[in-house]
Amino acid sequence: MNHGNYAISLSDVVKWLGTSGERGIEIYPGFAAAKPLFDGDRVIGVQVQDRGVDKDGKPKPNFEAGPEIHAKCVIFGEGPRGSCTKEVIEKLG
Ligand SMILES: Cc1cc2nc3c(=O)[nH]c(=O)nc-3n(C[C@H](O)[C@H](O)[C@H](O)COP(=O)(O)OP(=O)(O)OC[C@H]3O[C@@H](n4cnc5c(N)ncnc54)[C@H](O)[C@@H]3O)c2cc1C
Repeated sequence: MNHGNYAISLSDVVKWLGTSGERGIEIYPGFAAAKPLFDGDRVIGVQVQDRGVDKDGKPKPNFEAGPEIHAKCVIFGEGPRGSCTKEVIEKLG
């Protein structure tokens, strides 16, 4: 059943991810992507979730608007219920 697939050690992958900074990769833990950004029918990045919002969605004194992150290539790895992925599929099929 698993012929042709890779069997990997998740500990090794996490160790390798930990050295991402050495390869010029920036990781933003704790910053959820709130919505995909489009230029026509191209995905050009994501807007990160606003921070400092109360339970009713109103800004608190520490409010910070979510910045836009643009990229040449955008890959969504949100799992089976990704909200951004859903929006991309709805818009671009
Ligand atoms: C109980 C259970 C047991 C399982 N057991 C096995 C097993 O033994 N062997 C096996 O091969 N598979 C197993 N699976 C299946 C396996 O876990 C999934 O197929 C796999 O994790 C999917 O990987 P993924 O990277 O697509 O998504 P995920 O592992 O779901 O990763 C998606 C990540 O994206 C993050 N994310 C989502 N939306 C956003 C957003 N907007 N902004 C920022 N981050 C976001 C989530 O927090 C999550 O960390 C199991 C699943 C479950 C639920």
